[in-house]
Amino acid sequence: MTKDSQNDNSNFIETFEFQAEIQKLLDILINRLYKNREIFLRELISNAADALHKLRVVQFDESRTILDPEAELSIRILFDEDEGTITVSDTGYGMTYKEIVTNLGTIAQSGTLEFLKDLNETSDVSNFIGMFGVGFYSSFIVAKEVVVRSRTYSQEGQGVEWRSTGTGEFQVKNYDKTTRGTDVVLYLKEDMKSDFLNKYKLENIIKKYSDFVGFPIRIGDDDEIINRQVPIWHQAEEEVSDEEYNEFYRQVSFDYTEPFHRIHLSVDAPIQFRALIFLPKHSNRAMMTSLYQDYGLRLYSKKILVQEKAKDLLPEYLRFVFGVVDSEDLPLNVSREVIQVDQTIRRISKVIVSKILDELEKMIDEHEEKYLEWWNEFGVFIKEGITADEKRRKKLLNLLRVKTYKSESKLITLKSYLENLSEQQEEIFYLLGENIKILQNSPHLEPYKKNQQDVILFDEPIDSFVMMNVVEFEGKKFKAIDQAEPELPPPEDEKKEDKSEEEKKEEKDDFLKKMSEILGDRIIDIQYTDLLTESPCRLVNPTGMGAFSRAMRYMDQNFTPNKKILEINPNNSLIKEMKTLFNAEPNSVLFEMCVNQLLENQEITDGTLQDPVKLVNRITQFMLRALEKK
Ligand code: ADP
Ligand code: MG
Repeated sequence: MTKDSQNDNSNFIETFEFQAEIQKLLDILINRLYKNREIFLRELISNAADALHKLRVVQFDESRTILDPEAELSIRILFDEDEGTITVSDTGYGMTYKEIVTNLGTIAQSGTLEFLKDLNETSDVSNFIGMFGVGFYSSFIVAKEVVVRSRTYSQEGQGVEWRSTGTGEFQVKNYDKTTRGTDVVLYLKEDMKSDFLNKYKLENIIKKYSDFVGFPIRIGDDDEIINRQVPIWHQAEEEVSDEEYNEFYRQVSFDYTEPFHRIHLSVDAPIQFRALIFLPKHSNRAMMTSLYQDYGLRLYSKKILVQEKAKDLLPEYLRFVFGVVDSEDLPLNVSREVIQVDQTIRRISKVIVSKILDELEKMIDEHEEKYLEWWNEFGVFIKEGITADEKRRKKLLNLLRVKTYKSESKLITLKSYLENLSEQQEEIFYLLGENIKILQNSPHLEPYKKNQQDVILFDEPIDSFVMMNVVEFEGKKFKAIDQAEPELPPPEDEKKEDKSEEEKKEEKDDFLKKMSEILGDRIIDIQYTDLLTESPCRLVNPTGMGAFSRAMRYMDQNFTPNKKILEINPNNSLIKEMKTLFNAEPNSVLFEMCVNQLLENQEITDGTLQDPVKLVNRITQFMLRALEKK
């Protein structure tokens, strides 16, 4: 590795070439990290903290004789406007001559370069850099030259100086350093000076990334400690006041109301991590859309921020959740195969998600009213979860709140729906519709009202997607009641003989035939029904089509609604009047108008009416005729 050595009387300087990979790495870093260049400070502080931590470990070992045993374990950031330098200085473990040559001249981990090269254009390199043992080289994004002066912790050690301009080689020489630890001096590039040679700027960067580094960080000669050191998620819950929690919530969420709920977690197995999770009280419009990508938990590794918004920690439907995760098992400084990092994150995520859902479920039992308030804001996210998260669907269904025609506008759980079923009811009845008023007055409810059987009323667009994915709850199947031939137990009072589908079709009389002729292919079929008690007719879906067709309509404005079956109630007085008219004048224009209007009345409440102009014109005709008769 040695390129040449030169020996003048005062100093012996050795020149080394960087490992070939490092030069390529530097090019990548300088290119891709330019926008995030401030992270060089995070990386240098993280190295200083590592060195301090290592020193603390050897301090326990009494056989070693440590230089400056009384010196405080701390980090100091110095800046010099005249020289154009920033120095990150620590009282840590330090490096020997040999160590500095290997540590700052090679990449310890093979595969790192390949990984960085393969990252696609859009991925944020700053999220990865610390994980792969290349953090130090980020100095060259801002510095034209870097000088590292270090002295190893042991009393027998000597000082060493490392120096490089980041172009291919570096020089090392002995250096007379009397104090323990390492100083990294960055000679800033001209255009970086205004960015960083300023106490306020440095302070902000330290607070942003290194606030919770476990050693005091100071700037210049000041005694003031910039960082908080102990993050509140590392404290015991009883040590942290509500105000402190809320203040922290404001920092992560920019939400100035109090959080709805917080979860402070400390987990040791199967994976070590701490987390502080907040559920907000209010949703906002941006969050509502699934295009919203500005979510994720703050991910720390050993108290150092590695990712501002780690999306992988949350499924998309929990995008309203704020908080932090800090894991010892996600090292900043040890190279990891990406897969392994992924796995660790997935396992952490699993624990967090089930904890969130458990807490919500507990709330249903313990603070019903509070939960309901929350549901009104965030229920739609839970519904999205039901459609998206098959593994947790069962759990999410426990959180679901629904309206039924009996509950009026009150929201109940599926469990309490089941509690009120009669013995013989084997299914969970539901109806999808445009709004609650239409649903409550739907002809489809008539037979169920008569039998005192409750029906769930789904009035939100997302409910169609939910019902496309949900088959059963606690062993009972869901059943749409606007489907052809729902299998109702025969009404108690007037038991009719069962008629098969075939027989019913054959029963089509001239009246039905004529209506069918008028409506043509606007419907699939027309038939009598004995299920309706009041309404003249209803439109039913072919089995299994309802939720799908409705969902398609929400997604695609131009989607043509599926055709339906028109069921006629022969006992209704309007139908009787129409029959009389038909018997007298089978080809009358008025009869034809009535038939069309009958269908379109249903289509309006269904939300599937295609041509409102025709309908309005027809009603005008009806009005004229009625007025003429006066
Ligand atoms: P990583 O920190 O992930 O190992 P870096 O590129 O940040 O990778 O640093 C490379 C190595 O240089 C470190 O592992 C450490 O051995 C050494 N090093 C860097 N900074 C310091 C420091 N302030 N004190 C002691 N050793 C250091
Ligand atoms: Mg590092």
